[in-house]
Amino acid sequence: MPAPTRKTALAFMAHPDDAEFLCAGTLVRLADAGWKVHIATCTAGDCGTTTETPWAIMAVRTEEARKAAALIGGDYHCLGEPDGQVVYDKPTVRKAYDLFRRIVPTLVFTHAPKDYMLDHEMASLLGRAASFIYGAPNASAVPLAEGSQVPYLYYCDPVEGTDPLGRPVEPTTLVDITAQLEKKTEMLACHASQREWLRAHHGTDEYLDAMRRWVGARGQLAGVGAAEAFVQHRGHAYPRDDLLTELFGAGGSKTCL
Ligand SMILES: [Zn+2]
Repeated sequence: MPAPTRKTALAFMAHPDDAEFLCAGTLVRLADAGWKVHIATCTAGDCGTTTETPWAIMAVRTEEARKAAALIGGDYHCLGEPDGQVVYDKPTVRKAYDLFRRIVPTLVFTHAPKDYMLDHEMASLLGRAASFIYGAPNASAVPLAEGSQVPYLYYCDPVEGTDPLGRPVEPTTLVDITAQLEKKTEMLACHASQREWLRAHHGTDEYLDAMRRWVGARGQLAGVGAAEAFVQHRGHAYPRDDLLTELFGAGGSKTCL
């Protein structure tokens, strides 16, 4: 399938900073290649604090997410769901459909179907469902834009690369982000409140280092300095050719791009 003429990528994630951890290097590459990038989260991160009120921390975190997206000319969106309460129900599904209808993505990233916490799994379901149906005229009251179609869909790594039962997830696609690591780190560093919160909650201060270790480990799979890993959704009606391979390099499954 030829690459879509509409170059609009959407990272549809659960929480502010998930995209920066899991796929921002690839988003940087897409932006550099002329794609419009959107980052959306289901929640505004109201539980990501030990000291602030939900309202105060949500204001801080949405601003951090907006700044991170803006570093690559991207837009930030939030569905406004509470942390720990992202569910696959009709109101939330409708919000996701409406969001997709406004953005009209041709390439979508979301969480792995099985991940360490359920907000991620529900976001994955919402992203999958919205990808499939948003182009159907009756799916949303938001006007149908030209170019609305089932997008390429990629699942990011689950946290630590394993499903909740500890089984490793084998990627279909590795994207070399060695040259984009500095910008990805800059985007993640926009989430300053989380560096502080993680220090308080986990007793460590390795927000950026944990990310660097992970993309380094994924990079080792293909002999490059840093990589992001994905599993492409290849179910009925979804584009099945590996768009990321077509965009960033030759090679088939598990070839680093
Ligand atoms: Zn998360």
